[in-house]
Amino acid sequence: NPKIGFIGLGRMGRPMASNLQRKGFATLSYDVNPQGIAALVELGGRAAGSIAEVARESDIVFTMLPAHPEVRAVVLDGIVPNARPGTLVVDMSTIDPLATDEVAAAVEAAGLGFVDAPVGRLATHADRGECLFMVGASQEHFERVKPMLEAMGTTIHHCGPAGAGIRMKVVNNYLAIAACQLNAETLTLAARFGLDVERTIDILNGTTANNGHLKTNFPVKVLAGDIEPGFQIDLAHKDLGLALTSASSMKVPLAMGAAARECLQLARSRGFGGKDFSALLDAWCDLAGVEAPRLPSKN
Ligand code: NAD
Repeated sequence: NPKIGFIGLGRMGRPMASNLQRKGFATLSYDVNPQGIAALVELGGRAAGSIAEVARESDIVFTMLPAHPEVRAVVLDGIVPNARPGTLVVDMSTIDPLATDEVAAAVEAAGLGFVDAPVGRLATHADRGECLFMVGASQEHFERVKPMLEAMGTTIHHCGPAGAGIRMKVVNNYLAIAACQLNAETLTLAARFGLDVERTIDILNGTTANNGHLKTNFPVKVLAGDIEPGFQIDLAHKDLGLALTSASSMKVPLAMGAAARECLQLARSRGFGGKDFSALLDAWCDLAGVEAPRLPSKN
């Protein structure tokens, strides 16, 4: 098996690296926060003292970091100067596609390979090894990373050459996050009408209003009283910004998305930035002076 490096052991990276380790890929991992590394060491993984150490000792290095400043710093300053030629750098973070292009070019110029493999679905899917990957890679690099992606996920889409994965991800999250805000407003209106929330989501899930938030996310998160992330509103706000910035530079209007981003900004300004994106419902109820609805508890 190739030697695997893993940098960024947060809400997503930790379970993803854990699944690699459990399924027989020896990992050498690093995070600025030692908590994440400790979880991997418990499973038999090795802890690195620096990004340079990960770069020197790995055949394939995975990164799962918040946004493009962290990816730029880790890859350009840490991995590129220290990795052996032929090392494959696989960035799974959700970042600005232009930053992906810049990082990919620097990686390739140094004689290394680059793959973008951002992740769809929710953090609970990452826990269960059920991620969905949108991969941008040459055919050869795609074949090289596929066994590891299969250890972390169940659905792997090869979207095109390097850069195509992150572009697909920006498109995916644009709809997923704008739709989350629309669901939050919808359930706020229903609550203000005094409608029963369980009946409301049952009905909406049986018409063309049906969507993944109401079916799989809201019922187990915000409507069950759990607003810990999951996927933070701060990160969702970043992702809508990625879509809006790209679209703006290409003269593509995203009218609903621009409104949705400012709604997320409102939620952040009221202290919800670190909460799960389904907590847009609580933020909206708060703004509207409506009591946030909850499903009856199952026990
Ligand atoms: P997170 O904030 O929980 O984790 C990020 C980790 O990176 C943290 O542990 C942090 O300490 C570490 N880090 C930051 N700077 C570093 C550096 N310079 N060197 C080493 N480590 C560093 O975020 P997350 O929820 O795990 O998300 C990671 C990425 O995946 C983001 O781009 C996010 O948009 C995307 N994503 C998240 C979800 C989700 O549901 N949470 C789903 C799909 C994609």
